[in-house]
Amino acid sequence: SLSDRLGGVFDRLRGRGALNEADVRAAMREVRIALLEADVALPVVREFIDTVTEQAVGAQVLKSVTPGQQVVKIVNDALVAMLGAEASELQLDVAPPAIVMMVGLQGSGKTTTTAKIARRLVDKDRKKVLMASLDVNRPAAQEQLATLGTQIGVATLPIVAGQQPVDIARRALNAAKLQGYDVLLLDTAGRLHVDQALMDEMRAVADVTQPQEILLVVDSLTGQDAVNVAKSFSEQVPLTGVVLTRMDGDARGGAALSMRAVTGQPIKFAGVGEKLDAIEPFHPGRVAGRILGMGDVVGLVERAAETIQQDEAEKLAAKMAKGQFDMDDLRSQLNQMRRMGGLGALAGMIPGMKKAQAAMAAGAVDDKVLLRMDAMISSMTPKERARPELMNAKRKIRVAKGSGTTVQDVNRLMKMHQEMATTMKKIRKMGGLKGLAAMFG
Ligand code: GDP
Ligand code: MG
Repeated sequence: SLSDRLGGVFDRLRGRGALNEADVRAAMREVRIALLEADVALPVVREFIDTVTEQAVGAQVLKSVTPGQQVVKIVNDALVAMLGAEASELQLDVAPPAIVMMVGLQGSGKTTTTAKIARRLVDKDRKKVLMASLDVNRPAAQEQLATLGTQIGVATLPIVAGQQPVDIARRALNAAKLQGYDVLLLDTAGRLHVDQALMDEMRAVADVTQPQEILLVVDSLTGQDAVNVAKSFSEQVPLTGVVLTRMDGDARGGAALSMRAVTGQPIKFAGVGEKLDAIEPFHPGRVAGRILGMGDVVGLVERAAETIQQDEAEKLAAKMAKGQFDMDDLRSQLNQMRRMGGLGALAGMIPGMKKAQAAMAAGAVDDKVLLRMDAMISSMTPKERARPELMNAKRKIRVAKGSGTTVQDVNRLMKMHQEMATTMKKIRKMGGLKGLAAMFG
């Protein structure tokens, strides 16, 4: 995975002051491979790497993170920016009926997505919605939409045998106007490959209905081909957005980056399953993490920076510089862990959690354990907290009683303190407390 490969590069980067060109280029080679593995189209990869290299070379490394983390963040932020910084909803603020037209290859998920969006508009936005299928190529395509409409309780245009797409579109538009619908969703036919007949038909329908939204529906598993599909469609009709389907599958999300780059239009929804509620607004951050294949490391770094209060950090840093790490420091560390969502949340964000667990001393450390440790430390006297070596058998029994734990628990706590003290020394070497995440990497 990318995290493993970047690990190698970042190990070398770690501890150096600034991002020089050679380091950045080495890191970018790994990022490039990751992007290609995530099925981002080659021209898009090139452009992306150029942009990011330019941004990264010479960038000041923040004191609080390692150069490796800094590069990850730059790459991540560039991905998010390129994917479209914020979620973009449908723009249907017109005199009704607003028209939404779905286009794309056969099997990309147009019909399913039409029903999903209809359901969303009805449930979430309380709109009155009409759906119409213009697919006269595939047998029973119009019936498929009608069946979905029945399932979700959304009206579909009555089927008239033998009618051509443009005529169906006109009839749908009239029905929507006459019957006071807020939104008309047009599901169109697709081909297995882009061809001119499909494009002509699509353009004719767009001319007649003048849609507010023309959404290109793309299977996220399409990979490298997605670029050609997007190019062809965007040359023929004014696309306003993209829907990526099958994001529930094992696609790495590279199509998203390609789509955005080629069409210049936002990705508005992600399809995440066959069920008719399996659609969600597109989350650039999530997809960026998926493309990088490394969990939400950036989120972790940001949360760490937010959570760890500056004064606390400075106090601890000063102590660490003197080689001290007492029970109060341990407690403050445990509390920070809890504030960050406990190790349960950490485990989801950090690649290579096993290493972390090893570093975090004997046994599984969960939220309950953190709380129990806090209770034990509270049962110690200030003197004991400052000088843990005072903890003899008698004192341990007293602390166990006072905190409702056992002497074994207290022993485990003391062992953890010792290991944490060692870890703290390592963290100090790696650039301070906020570099905490680095030791998990
Ligand atoms: P169309 O030919 O473009 O209209 O595609 P359909 O809407 O008929 O979908 C083709 C197949 O893909 C159907 O079996 C759908 O259930 C499935 N499908 C559509 N969207 C998704 C999705 O987001 N996730 C998954 N897993 N399947 C999907
Ligand atoms: Mg269809």
